[in-house]
Amino acid sequence: ATVPAGTAPEYSELAANLRGTLILPGDADYDAARAVYNAMIDRRPAAIVRCADQADVVAAVNFGRNHGLVLAVRGGGHNAGGLGIADGALVVDLSRMRATTVDPAARTVRVDGGCTWNDVDHATVAFGLATPSGFVSTTGVGGLALGGGIGNLSRSCGLTVDNLVSADVVLADGRLVTADAEHHPDLFWALRGGGGNFGVVTSFTFRLHEVGENGSVIAGPVFYDLEDAPEVLRWYRDLLPTLPEELGGWFAVLTIPDGPPFPEELRNRKACAIAWCYTGEHARADEVLDPVRSFGRPLLVAVQEMPFNAFQAFFDPLVPPGLQWYWKSDFTETISDRAIEVHLKHGRIMPTAQSTMHMYPIDGAAASVPADATAFAYRDGGWACVIVGVSPDPADRDAITAWARDYWEELHPTSAGGAYVNFLMEDEGTDRVRAAYLGNYERLARVKAEYDPDNVFHINQNIPPAAS
Ligand code: FAD
Repeated sequence: ATVPAGTAPEYSELAANLRGTLILPGDADYDAARAVYNAMIDRRPAAIVRCADQADVVAAVNFGRNHGLVLAVRGGGHNAGGLGIADGALVVDLSRMRATTVDPAARTVRVDGGCTWNDVDHATVAFGLATPSGFVSTTGVGGLALGGGIGNLSRSCGLTVDNLVSADVVLADGRLVTADAEHHPDLFWALRGGGGNFGVVTSFTFRLHEVGENGSVIAGPVFYDLEDAPEVLRWYRDLLPTLPEELGGWFAVLTIPDGPPFPEELRNRKACAIAWCYTGEHARADEVLDPVRSFGRPLLVAVQEMPFNAFQAFFDPLVPPGLQWYWKSDFTETISDRAIEVHLKHGRIMPTAQSTMHMYPIDGAAASVPADATAFAYRDGGWACVIVGVSPDPADRDAITAWARDYWEELHPTSAGGAYVNFLMEDEGTDRVRAAYLGNYERLARVKAEYDPDNVFHINQNIPPAAS
């Protein structure tokens, strides 16, 4: 890397050791490099190391630690609380590290720590295979995989963490280790839900599954009027446990977008929807899908055959980067009648067209894993519920935040306690982080004490090291 003019001498020492780029305040690309997905976040790091390889990550971690700099680690940059970046920090930016290698015979994919999920889906669907991720393909592998990973394949194949085979990790002291079931088993356990607390993951290896027929699934949303939400939610709640594992579906409260492909008469209408994804044999598709396509009074049925990676990217245009974003979340065991009233009440008063509420099931294969088998603790068969205030306009910041908070305050008493760490903002406090891990928190704090005793990696949903 070239040394930017006029920088402190120690940065030239770091730059001389990099294959990637060192970006400092005043550089032409500094503002673009510090921008994250959520446009509400406006932080000014001391330096951004855009790493090209593992050696760059080691150099950045050692340099940051030796100079007493706060270290932030950026994967896909999608964290709503902006935890991939921090004021005054040295950012270990993995966004250039995007290689993927599929082993079709072993049914695994090895992916670099800076990949997004569309990098991975693109690589694996070519072989008719996939690993569980989320519902939006622009999200980073790093943050999503380390926090749990709830998505379209959770019901049939488990969470992302349930499919992690191994991870290469640069630790706080600069060592690189591979964690898997045999090597560093405590670290391997902690990485499967414990977030970025334990080191920088430079590559992940995931197990792959056959998905649909040659990678083609039958999937898409069914929309209903918002006023039908009580009827739809009761039906959905009771139906879900009876469905075959190849059919999953998540629920949303939303406003139908004001543009194509939505029919003009439906645009801007307050609605609810279930996004279905069927990954089984196509010969059985009608038998399985007819009941969910025909229920109630659907406004629009958009369930169709498409490649799995196309469905993973289906909702990407609705959530582009650069929007104001504030969310609140909980785990919820069931959808009570009281919760249904709350969803309808706050759905009616959504502050912007982009604001929404999603309920993602943690069921089937994801719910069959014991709560202490991985750091991700909530396995009770229910939903991760997330209320998302969204707007393109910074002037809406207070309105979307207040709506999400009020909605959550009323819904929270119906929740199971705890929340998914990947759906927390940065300001939620240690009690919420502790609650997220239920009975696994103490063990996580002990593993943290072993691998990062000085809490070098604390720009995350932090688990401070247990006192010795
Ligand atoms: P970043 O902001 O880059 O990082 C987030 C945290 O992870 C930071 O603490 C960072 O230090 C750490 N981190 C990232 N990469 C690494 C790494 N390689 N090594 C060590 N630490 C690392 N979650 C789901 O489970 N399912 C979904 O369907 C889903 N959909 C989403 C859709 C949208 C539009 C958004 C904005 C988020 C969604 N999420 C979902 C939540 C998502 O999992 C979190 O926002 C997650 O933190 C994003 O990871 P990232 O790598 O993009 O973020």
